[in-house]
Amino acid sequence: MAQDEGVIGFSYALKAPSAPIADALAQPLLAWRAVLRRLGLIGQRPDRYGGFGYGNLSRRAAGGEETFIITASQTGGAAQAGMDDLVRIDRCDLNRFHADAEGVKPPSSESLTHAMVYHADADIHWVLHGHSPDIWGQAPGLGLPTIAADVEYGSWRMAKAVAALLSSNATRPLVFATLGHRDGVFACGEGAEHTGGTLIQCLGRSLVLASTRSRNATPPTDERVDVGMPADAPRRAAEDQDATGKAMPQTTQGVVRDEVAPHPLPLPASETGEP
Ligand SMILES: [Zn+2]
Repeated sequence: MAQDEGVIGFSYALKAPSAPIADALAQPLLAWRAVLRRLGLIGQRPDRYGGFGYGNLSRRAAGGEETFIITASQTGGAAQAGMDDLVRIDRCDLNRFHADAEGVKPPSSESLTHAMVYHADADIHWVLHGHSPDIWGQAPGLGLPTIAADVEYGSWRMAKAVAALLSSNATRPLVFATLGHRDGVFACGEGAEHTGGTLIQCLGRSLVLASTRSRNATPPTDERVDVGMPADAPRRAAEDQDATGKAMPQTTQGVVRDEVAPHPLPLPASETGEP
């Protein structure tokens, strides 16, 4: 089952920053992080995902093909985020599910998913990931492409699914939902404003759809809210569970746990090449 909890999503090596992240890269990222948090797409609540923080965002670093800056693990609950809440991912190995990072906090447990998106489309420079029951539950009505529920989140199979989704949906920015990762929605595109704006449009449209369906619902005494899932469906723990990394001088080795199932055993060499 894709929703098993408490397994290793990926490993990472964390080094102290070799240089501060440039303001020109960091400030827009922090600003859009604030926007998503105000909208509830990033956050931390005791009644959702086992109380773990959720949501994260990243942007490609200038000059680095697949180097990107991403919010750190378990920072969703902070009302405000600063430079210490950002991590630079220097390299992601999608075959080993390993990331080399620089920062003072562990990278988001969903860093590998961001890496999958950047790897699949060189024109994408921003990836926003939020948890929205509104958008996720209305994904079919919104016409959003989806990663199927049986694709294990954070797996090599998901990397292939992300690549296929981006290949078959040329629209940018693109919003898609991960059905195997409850309430998970991604927006990816070239620029922050267009990408973020598209995600916000989706949120607005989802609320209109829900309102319309609620008004048209029969019989009127049906209290079920049509968001696609039973209201009492068990919540899965959110992404970004705390890392279990062991501090070492200059370098931290660790793993980031996620609510996803273990990624599959290594595939034959013929299937592990670059897509
Ligand atoms: Zn998530």
